[in-house]
Amino acid sequence: MESQPFQLHVAFFPYMAHGHIIPTVDMARSFARHGVKATIITTALNAPLFSRTIDRDIELGFKICILVMKFPSTEAGLPEGCENASSIKTLEMIPKFFNAVSLLQQPLEELLRECRPDCLVADMMFPWATKVSGKLDIPRLVFHGTSSFALCVSDCLKRYEPYKSIQSDLEPFPVPGLPDKIKLTKRQLPSYAKEHSELSKQMDEILQAELESYGVIMNSFHELEPAYSEHYKKVIGRKSWHIGPVSLCNRDIVDKVQRGGEASIDGNECLKWLAKKKSNSVLYICFGSMSKTDFSATQLFEIAKALAASGQNFVWVVKNEERTKGEVKEEWLPEGFEKQMDGNGLIIRGWAPQMLILDHEAIGGFMTHCGWNSTLEGITAGVPMVTWPLCAEQFYNEKLITDVLKIGVAVGAQEWSRHERKILVKKEEIANAIMQLMIGEEAEALRNRAKALKQMARKATEEEGSSYCDLNALLEELRAIKTTSY
Ligand code: UDP
Repeated sequence: MESQPFQLHVAFFPYMAHGHIIPTVDMARSFARHGVKATIITTALNAPLFSRTIDRDIELGFKICILVMKFPSTEAGLPEGCENASSIKTLEMIPKFFNAVSLLQQPLEELLRECRPDCLVADMMFPWATKVSGKLDIPRLVFHGTSSFALCVSDCLKRYEPYKSIQSDLEPFPVPGLPDKIKLTKRQLPSYAKEHSELSKQMDEILQAELESYGVIMNSFHELEPAYSEHYKKVIGRKSWHIGPVSLCNRDIVDKVQRGGEASIDGNECLKWLAKKKSNSVLYICFGSMSKTDFSATQLFEIAKALAASGQNFVWVVKNEERTKGEVKEEWLPEGFEKQMDGNGLIIRGWAPQMLILDHEAIGGFMTHCGWNSTLEGITAGVPMVTWPLCAEQFYNEKLITDVLKIGVAVGAQEWSRHERKILVKKEEIANAIMQLMIGEEAEALRNRAKALKQMARKATEEEGSSYCDLNALLEELRAIKTTSY
């Protein structure tokens, strides 16, 4: 820990979803390792997802704590205990969940009045946090949880609306104004990016709050996307700091096993299974933390057949509770699949210790939905990817992986949707992408580029690295604000 002239206190307020909580907690832990007092504000049922990790940090002497506020589930008409986006099971629950979140403004203000931090890092999903912190004269930083690349694509789509002059849903068009030639189709764009709706109104509020905030903090590193981090600052004009990959604060096995919640498989059992495999010989398949973005049984069946046809070793994470073993018939697996794959394949039903798996030398590829955390974790582990975006900004991240960084093979996903997709990705397409990623000269080239990025990622967070220095620069600025306000 560094000794500082006086201790800064930074509060972190993550949105109640795994993909937001996990990096925010890592970020708070990284700040604490830079001598800051870090307070993570969350709700009672989300705190256990990371409280054991924080307890260990406290034992190690870091100044970090959790403050719990009540989540107004029942007040918003949600069932008791629905405090995380992963508990949203029906369409009607979505606006209720957003409503419950918006009821947190007053409790947040009260908490901030009590604990008086010098800065608030609040998730983009809380646009109102800028006003709350403004009332108390606390600078607010926005955390989007995505790349500069995705934010730049999103800005250029909004600015130039290139999709408006395109007739076909499937015709690729270039996104103007970007440092590279990036092509997308209308069908790959988020609904809120191309049509007016409640959601697009919400996105506008988020952008407005960003303009009124002190700046933006990024879980990324400059060397990964230099042209886009410059574009974001200079062309879009945002003050921003790249301080990632924040996942690198998880060094111990126990940190990796418990990250984001208790894993459904014993960490040692998992390591024992991987230890039996050759380097770079296993494909890891996981589509993020949200079961609602999971696939239809028919699509899972195609994946299973492709895995068998590819002959590759694999670890496959399946989220959807309805597909778990037990009384429920597993109609998504071909008859006798697990027996046939015995030794070659490991299926994890539920929560996987993703970082532990990705960081293992046996892993040679990652089939991912291109959520930003997963993308960055793949990069940090030096693993090339089969890209299979589903929703959110994942189709943009795919382009960064395949077209800019050239460390991935697209499976050929065409359809942006937050629910089950109509277009099936066939067994042959999946198997082809897997073979391209895992075997042959081109696979070797992808892997070498991924390994080079891994080194850069690690260097960025070490002393004197770009992310290390950017975080220090931010902290110095916050200290200067604190000094002048006395
Ligand atoms: N994750 C995990 N185990 C799982 C599924 C997901 O540890 O079984 C973690 C993963 O490592 C990542 C996060 O959950 O940190 C998912 O975030 P991402 O942005 O990739 O996708 P999202 O879930 O938000 O769509």
